[in-house]
Amino acid sequence: MPAPCSKQRANGRGVVLVADDDPVMRLLMLEMLEGVNLAAIEAEDGVQAVQLARECSPDLILMDVEMPRMDGFAACRAIRDLENGASVPIVMVTGGDDLEAVTNAYEAGATDFVSKPINWPILGHRVLYVLRASDAIVRLRIADAQNRAVLAAIPDTFFRMNGDGFYLDYEPGRSGERRHVFPADECVGKHVGEVLPRDIAERMLEQVEVALRIQQVRSVEYELIRFGQVQHFEARLVATGASEVLGLVRDISERKRAEEQIRRLAYCDSLTGIPNRQAFLEMLERELQRSKIGNKKFAVLFMDLDAFKRINDTLGHNVGDQLLQQVSDRLRDTIRPSDLLSRGDSLTREGGDPRPDTNLARLGGDEFTILIPDLDRVEHALNVAHRVKDAMRRSFLIEGNEIFVTASIGISLFPEDGDDCTSLLKYADTAMYHAKNCGKNNAKLYSSSLTMQIMSHVRLEVGLRKALQNDELYLLYQPQLDVRSSEIVGVEALVRWRHAERGIISPTEFIPLAEETGLIVPIGEWVLRTACSQARAWQKLMRRPVRMAVNLSAKQFKDENLSQIVLSALHDTGLDPRLLELELTEGTLMDDAKATLATLEQLRAIGVYLSIDDFGTGYSSMNYLKRFDVRALKIDRSFISGLPQDSENAAITRAIIAMAHGLKMMVVAEGVETGEQLVLLEEYGCDLVQGFYLGRPAPADTVTGMLQSLWVPVDAK
Ligand code: C2E
Ligand code: MG
Ligand code: MG
Repeated sequence: MPAPCSKQRANGRGVVLVADDDPVMRLLMLEMLEGVNLAAIEAEDGVQAVQLARECSPDLILMDVEMPRMDGFAACRAIRDLENGASVPIVMVTGGDDLEAVTNAYEAGATDFVSKPINWPILGHRVLYVLRASDAIVRLRIADAQNRAVLAAIPDTFFRMNGDGFYLDYEPGRSGERRHVFPADECVGKHVGEVLPRDIAERMLEQVEVALRIQQVRSVEYELIRFGQVQHFEARLVATGASEVLGLVRDISERKRAEEQIRRLAYCDSLTGIPNRQAFLEMLERELQRSKIGNKKFAVLFMDLDAFKRINDTLGHNVGDQLLQQVSDRLRDTIRPSDLLSRGDSLTREGGDPRPDTNLARLGGDEFTILIPDLDRVEHALNVAHRVKDAMRRSFLIEGNEIFVTASIGISLFPEDGDDCTSLLKYADTAMYHAKNCGKNNAKLYSSSLTMQIMSHVRLEVGLRKALQNDELYLLYQPQLDVRSSEIVGVEALVRWRHAERGIISPTEFIPLAEETGLIVPIGEWVLRTACSQARAWQKLMRRPVRMAVNLSAKQFKDENLSQIVLSALHDTGLDPRLLELELTEGTLMDDAKATLATLEQLRAIGVYLSIDDFGTGYSSMNYLKRFDVRALKIDRSFISGLPQDSENAAITRAIIAMAHGLKMMVVAEGVETGEQLVLLEEYGCDLVQGFYLGRPAPADTVTGMLQSLWVPVDAK
């Protein structure tokens, strides 16, 4: 009886089952096996061979064909059916040139055959070779099983593709939702161009080629619209030979969504939902590159709300926040898509702009920026700025508060003002400050000369401080004619500055500067005193009253000493208060109605008159004007200048006159330059006129001459 298999295995040698009914044959076999250092177990017939194969799992079987009870073919088949027998190498020992036996052996599942007479030394090596091959097969099987297990465990779809782009194999991913994958039969044998959209297929092929060439992993990301949903995929391609790649396709939609979310957070202003500073800077950078390449212009608008801090401080941050939200909504509605023209690619998804439809951003606080690409005319940027300004002027309703804000806007232009983002943004900011200084609710262009202007501004300021001491200021007087009597009944005092180097400087240039620096108070006081004393001098000389109109700027009006200053000027010069008329603009009056009322009360107590300068250019409520006890409205020059041709302005002028008269106010028309205008204004019932046609602002002496004679039209002289 053959020895138990366990014993044979003990020394770790390979075990060969020798099945032969001929004991001599078995002996020779055993010897041969011993020669190549293999252990052996023996079976005398087929039945025993099958039994031993089951019990001992030999590493190889040498099987004689002809045996009693069960022949070699039947035993071979039976072993193949065993659980542990499917892959054991079986070498059949056939007779001489028995070709049929060889065929039968093959069909029965044999691995190899040797034929008698046996060449014993060769057989030993043959056995070793078969064992090694079988070993390799086993290892291959294990590796294959491992690969399959790995592939089964990962959710990716995998495929094999040849260098020409044909799918050799395709295994849809095993992950939960499989709706996105293509069924294998839609792919195997097909070209990638038939399965994927053309552009993606082309990219895929390109990378297949690269992966094969450099023998490194390449990846391709793409998106497909599957079942009405955008899905993102990443295909990694690994060369598995000279002309074949293995592709692993992963659904990365989830990751993309997360990335998108992160980008959203990083690029989005959480309060208003519009892009934030970072997003804007990147957007600007892209636009800069695009415009440089395309030789295009663009504008950067920088908007800041006037007095936002006051709203925040008085109504609370909650209201402030809501205001910013509403402002951003309104801005978005105001910037028409046409302002942003062919946005195309540069500002959309890729950049992570959370609202690809806008070039709007909030930089922080109450600062907003707008990018206007493809600008062909500067006016277009100004138009947008004015639309924005107008949009801001409509009141905001927040928690029952009606809130009024105005905005100051600065504009910088590419390429005129600068050719990098930082400069452009800085210049827009500078221009915004400039706009604020010019009286808020303003839009200003930055121009490279602005910096120069600011420089010369500083120099001017130094000069202005000395102007009073150096006696560089002087007054001109412009006559006001009573339309009905053709008599000059009053004058307006207009200040001038004789600058040592620059010559005569207009008040439109230095009054704002004086306002900014507070110098307006001493200058205003000087103007008031000089004008009062001149009026008093004329009154004495002419023996009739000559009314003196003096302009007051907002700062002067807000000065708490105003009534004191007026009072002492009147007192010191001895001028009758009723001969002094103070000119205020609508803006000055409406700024702070409550405080205004108190100041006006004091002025009225003194007995001076009040008129509204530049009427029609600002906003004022008729109600207030009535309460303020205004003596006269001065219709702004801009309405008069187009007369008589401009029918719209003619209508406005008539309406102002009618309304003023209804409220028992006088009307003064400013800027009358022609006889025709005078005739028309007379026809409309205008009370007083002032303008170049009647006399330019002139020194006191010249005006004295005019006062002494009746006024005669220029054309009649
Ligand atoms: P305003 O008070 O509206 O003065 C009228 C301006 O219109 C004056 O300019 C005057 O020269 C100009 N003007 C008068 N008639 C005509 C005309 O027929 N055609 C044209 N094109 N212009 C005409 P000016 O003297 O340059 O003063 C400009 C502004 O400066 C004044 O506007 C006023 O707001 C301010 N201003 C002048 N003097 C003073 C002052 O002493 N104190 C203050 N606070 N502001 C002053
Ligand atoms: Mg005036
Ligand atoms: Mg005026």
